[in-house]
Amino acid sequence: MTVVATILIFIIFISKYKPMYKVTMAGETLGYITSKKEVEEIINNYKNTKEGNIAFIDIENMPKYELNLVPWNKEDSTSEVLKAVKDTSVVTYKLYAIKVGEESQAYVSTAEEAEEVIEELKQKFDGMVDLKINMEEIYTSNIEDITSIDTKVAKANLDNEIIDGSNSAINGIILSKPTTGIISSRFGPRWGRSHTGIDIASNTGTPIYSCSKGTVEFTGWYYGYGNLVIVNHGNGVKTYYGHCSKIYVSVGDTVTKDTVIAAMGSTGNSTGPHLHLEIRRNGTVLNPQNYLYK
Ligand SMILES: [Zn+2]
Repeated sequence: MTVVATILIFIIFISKYKPMYKVTMAGETLGYITSKKEVEEIINNYKNTKEGNIAFIDIENMPKYELNLVPWNKEDSTSEVLKAVKDTSVVTYKLYAIKVGEESQAYVSTAEEAEEVIEELKQKFDGMVDLKINMEEIYTSNIEDITSIDTKVAKANLDNEIIDGSNSAINGIILSKPTTGIISSRFGPRWGRSHTGIDIASNTGTPIYSCSKGTVEFTGWYYGYGNLVIVNHGNGVKTYYGHCSKIYVSVGDTVTKDTVIAAMGSTGNSTGPHLHLEIRRNGTVLNPQNYLYK
């Protein structure tokens, strides 16, 4: 009789209760789970995630498990436990920073992308600005860095940064002296008018180089300028070379600071061989001596 009673009580008991693991983390109860093995395996897989830019994941508090008998209808909280583990863990990402000078200005995902961006910038700004650009492998937990990863955006940001940061240049264009000679007339008021450039005097035929990389925009006779060459350097910057005896380039030609574009002369409104050099930014004349022949 007592045996039957014990079995009966046992059956009633197991129909009402079941074993489950109570999960706690840092002293806080997260819920109950059925399979400790399964949860541990999922956490372990999460910890070893290597996708994207994830370098490693630190789980700050590992859950603790305690076997309990709980009412039969107790729900499984596996997903809540996993969410708590993820929420309190720290994900560290590996990225490549593209630095202009000492400052990181953009991030990309891989070393290959970084090299590609740097190479493109070097070609784009070749001979125009003094490029101090390099890459660095970095580790960060800052999600902002990750979400900003977009190679196209990174390139655009870098372009602006290079142009803004190059204060020795005009809108990012570094200019070189186009010829040799002495300054025979400076920029500014002259004979009741304004001299729109500087005059550099030497012998007829002295080579005149482009001040920087650019595209020839005009060649030919232009009023008092005589034989004139205009080079467009981009970013709103143009240079004018007047009174030339000869012109060696044509409209549309690509030039660099090493291209001889013309020869010094005395054509147009001129009393002796000299180069009339003008620098214009967005159509406004600038004093060339603020940048050249300082
Ligand atoms: Zn002049």
